Amino acid sequence: MDDFTAKEIWQKVKLELRNHIPDSTYYLWVEKLEPVSYENGVFKLVTVLALAPQIIKQNHKKHFDEAFKKVLGHDVVFNIEFDEDLSKKYQEEMKKELKKSKLYTSPEEQNSAKVMKNLSHMQSTANLDLKYKFENFVVGENNRRAYGTAKIVAQTPSVQFNPLFIYGAPGLGKTHIMQAIGHYIIFNKPELRVKYVKTVDYVNEYMSKFSLSNDNRFKNVTPEINKFRQKYRNIDVLLIDDIQFIESKNKTIDEVFHTFDYLLNKNKQIVITSDRQPKDIMLPERLTSRFVKGVVVEITPPEYAVRLQILKNLAQQKGLNVDDSVFEYIADNFYTNVRELEGAFNNVAVFAEIDNADITLDFAQSVLKCEIKQRLLTIDVIADKIAEFFELTVDDFKSPARAQKVSKARQIAVFIIKEITGESYENIAKFFNKKHTTMIYSCDTIEEEMKTNSELRKTIEYLRKILKED
Ligand code: ADP
Ligand code: MG
Repeated sequence: MDDFTAKEIWQKVKLELRNHIPDSTYYLWVEKLEPVSYENGVFKLVTVLALAPQIIKQNHKKHFDEAFKKVLGHDVVFNIEFDEDLSKKYQEEMKKELKKSKLYTSPEEQNSAKVMKNLSHMQSTANLDLKYKFENFVVGENNRRAYGTAKIVAQTPSVQFNPLFIYGAPGLGKTHIMQAIGHYIIFNKPELRVKYVKTVDYVNEYMSKFSLSNDNRFKNVTPEINKFRQKYRNIDVLLIDDIQFIESKNKTIDEVFHTFDYLLNKNKQIVITSDRQPKDIMLPERLTSRFVKGVVVEITPPEYAVRLQILKNLAQQKGLNVDDSVFEYIADNFYTNVRELEGAFNNVAVFAEIDNADITLDFAQSVLKCEIKQRLLTIDVIADKIAEFFELTVDDFKSPARAQKVSKARQIAVFIIKEITGESYENIAKFFNKKHTTMIYSCDTIEEEMKTNSELRKTIEYLRKILKED
């Protein structure tokens, strides 16, 4: 049977599926799959619908497995991938077709086209990335509460936990879990309008509306601004990522405040993420008090088992055969940030492909040696090096001294320590004998000054370099 072409097999499998899957689903998700290949027991299909792989695996895997087995006489692994190029062409064709052939399509087909249009419209306006789902989020002690509350919010939006505020250091899965909420709602409650936005995009979009309206700046509500406002109010679920970005953006702070009030009064769900807890974001009380009205949950760095599982999933996704010792080595050495953990594995995988090498422990070590060395840079090591550079001592940093020279050097040290170690403001503050709000202020000040002060930029680049090279 394996001698049949993929196309011939697929024709037969489709006939089987046709008998077991309801019409509406069949026409919408299955009919439009295209067979690509059947090799080494793996049957590959592509789809023009971004949501199809997930929907089919979730709801119809059993039907597919059975249909393949019936046709081929044995188990088959089937793989469905979304093909973006094909999708664009298909959408264009479909528009033309729909225009001229409404008369000839069956009611099921017309209906499925409508549902598809709705879903794809919803997905594009929701602004989500299909990578981020609950199913591929590894749960551990570090994120159990965030995962639990997010799941409840996704299942019953606006009932409990409103707003849901998730905070934690960069690279720990905040965006992933927030978008997972969005996907869950789109799939399971398609009548709800979901919108995901990065705060930086929100701020830029809002400010650009003002630059369009030259006169009466900030006084009158122009049609542009009104449109913007409606876009973020005419929804049921607002997912707003990295809210700390509105610090010091006074105009936007007002807008966000009124939008939150509007949505919460209408009992709409809001989910917020941030790299720190509400009280550490420099914002007016009236806004931070809204943040904590629902529930505030923290994500902390993942424990070993979670790190290991994330790496194993990644290797499986890429279809790579990797020795356990490689996973253990990477999980041992990259423990503060999942993005870096994944990045380390991806680096090893890419170099293995370029060098045409097996992914062994030796190979992984040779790729990651330098990066791992950098991770030995702790707060005290960095503080010491920076103090030396400015001809000061770490005790000067720890003292209450406010002399310009000491305080600027201290701010730079805090900024670089935060950047390299990713330590919490609390821990950095403890080291320097200062308040954690002073640490936040230091980082924000340096970041801001670097935009305009090229001397400062050069100094910081130089410090980064010597720290990494030593
Ligand atoms: P953050 O928004 O907190 O900076 P992201 O959500 O962007 O972090 O996560 C960074 C990367 O790590 C993403 O690729 C994400 O899928 C992955 N990731 C983080 N936590 C987990 C987890 N628990 N399980 C699976 N992947 C995770
Ligand atoms: Mg994020």
